[in-house]
Amino acid sequence: MINKRVYKQELEIGKKAVITAMRITNSIQKELYVRDIITKTDKSPVTIADFTSQAIVCKILNDNFPEIPIVAEENSNALKNPEHKETLKKIIHFIEREPQVREMINKDILFETIDFGCQSTGKAFWTLDPIDGTKGFIRGEQYAVALALVVEEEVKLGILGCPNLKFKNDRSKSGYLFSAIRNEGAEIFNVEKKTSKRTNISNISDTKKMKFIESYESSHSNLELQNKIAKILNIKNPPVQMDSQVKYGMISNGDAEIYLRIPHPKTPDYKEKIWDHAAGSIIVEESEGIVSDIFGKKLDFNTGKTLKNNTGILASTPLVHNDVLEIIKKNLIQHNK
Ligand code: AMP
Ligand code: MG
Repeated sequence: MINKRVYKQELEIGKKAVITAMRITNSIQKELYVRDIITKTDKSPVTIADFTSQAIVCKILNDNFPEIPIVAEENSNALKNPEHKETLKKIIHFIEREPQVREMINKDILFETIDFGCQSTGKAFWTLDPIDGTKGFIRGEQYAVALALVVEEEVKLGILGCPNLKFKNDRSKSGYLFSAIRNEGAEIFNVEKKTSKRTNISNISDTKKMKFIESYESSHSNLELQNKIAKILNIKNPPVQMDSQVKYGMISNGDAEIYLRIPHPKTPDYKEKIWDHAAGSIIVEESEGIVSDIFGKKLDFNTGKTLKNNTGILASTPLVHNDVLEIIKKNLIQHNK
């Protein structure tokens, strides 16, 4: 049964799964990041690291919590196509090379292990993005392994592994892991040094020092409106670009103050995917930041694989959340008149 109060066991096992996936995807990125890309039907890319990460995390979760369904981004269909047999061989190579992974997964159970992630949402479910920011991963830049547990319509636990995240004067080679349990706070963990620190952004008070953090892909948000908001708020610092939910981690750690995702004018009806926001949103909320959609509505993780009841995202320090919502309201109304 799921421990309804603390989710400590889920956190411990989830972290172990994410750290294992971080290590292996990082070595895949370093060894062959520009090759072996499959283009999915929605034109987005998937790499051997997406499949390998999903297999590892799903296997560990399913072994420990077989009653909790997993809703993950990938499935094994493309790998069954003979056209992709070289990709399949490489996944098996990386799995067999790692003793810790070899003990759990072999080529006979690879497809079914990846497809543990193809279950439906329910009263309680895990949601996983095995490589969030695949485009960043391919460029050799930021990406995240993002895992969250949703119970009774609320994200209760979030884990965000960021293998390439580094701070100023930082020599750590294994990146950072953010995590949060509902009502228990959030923390950042240095994977190499094994040290952790609580994150809390409730005291940020100076709007002049603030900055936006945005997607590297300019087609994922309406940057024109964002620039207008920055001007109205008198924010002079240039925005920081970064792929994936690492952006939420940066907000939770006070390294940026506003993460805004307004549907791009070319994709006005875009609905966000649950695995792109579940882990990051609880990490910011448990750091005492605020997360909502661009109309101030709470994110509703109970509508299947997409956030059907929400439009865009606003994650920020409490100081500016309302101001940003007000500016969006005025400007989107003007825009639509
Ligand atoms: P990011 O690196 O924050 O831009 O997030 C990457 C995610 O953006 C991918 O995993 C996609 O699910 C998502 N995405 C794809 N197309 C769009 C779009 N038109 N607008 C917003 N997000 C998108
Ligand atoms: Mg992904």
